Amino acid sequence: MNSAKKRLILFDIDGTLITAGGAGTRSLDRAFNALFGIKDAFISIKMSGKTDIQIIKEGLRLHELTGVDGNVEKMKGMYLSFLREEVNNPWKKMKPGIADLLAILKCREKPLGLLTGNLEEGAGIKLTPFRLNEYFIDGAFGSDNEDRDELLPIAIEKFSRKGFAYTPAECIVVGDTPRDVRCAKIHGAFSVAVATGSYSKEELLRTDADIVLDSFEDAEKCAADLGMIEFKMNYG
Ligand SMILES: [Mg+2]
Repeated sequence: MNSAKKRLILFDIDGTLITAGGAGTRSLDRAFNALFGIKDAFISIKMSGKTDIQIIKEGLRLHELTGVDGNVEKMKGMYLSFLREEVNNPWKKMKPGIADLLAILKCREKPLGLLTGNLEEGAGIKLTPFRLNEYFIDGAFGSDNEDRDELLPIAIEKFSRKGFAYTPAECIVVGDTPRDVRCAKIHGAFSVAVATGSYSKEELLRTDADIVLDSFEDAEKCAADLGMIEFKMNYG
């Protein structure tokens, strides 16, 4: 007898679970300055929804530093070391309702994962001050593939190795940018967009997101909405 199958919920980090208070951008800029003597290297680069490697490569291209082998690796290492410092800033914040929402989902034994453009180590660093790492069994990261659109199958593969079998259509991808929506919908996953990052609700409503939320502030209601989504996915 097939009871309602639990869905895999995958969360983006920046703009969705937290804001790191600009720690990512400052760390990239400091790393670039330390390695190449160029200040504010990323000032003109829009980062939302992109993977860290994609952002680093855009920075290197912009400043014509792509010709040298090893620059991406050097930037990754330097970025992570600055991030450990920069994450300790007074502007970092958990997004409204996230603490309650994750606690409710955990109580309901929902398997939770991450789907983020952050390098895996960077994701851990950003979530540590909020003690959020413990909620997530595994995830797909910008260090797994620089193309966000490739990350959902990677997350599914990692969960399968841990004994959780899911198809893309059984996944719910939660994020704050059109890129989060796209990387879900191209695989046929369910997409929840939340307007707590740099995109407005109106902008997100123009994407293919299945639902668009203002925020997770009313965590009880959002958890109920996610339950309703699961019900619809199970029973059409
Ligand atoms: Mg984001």
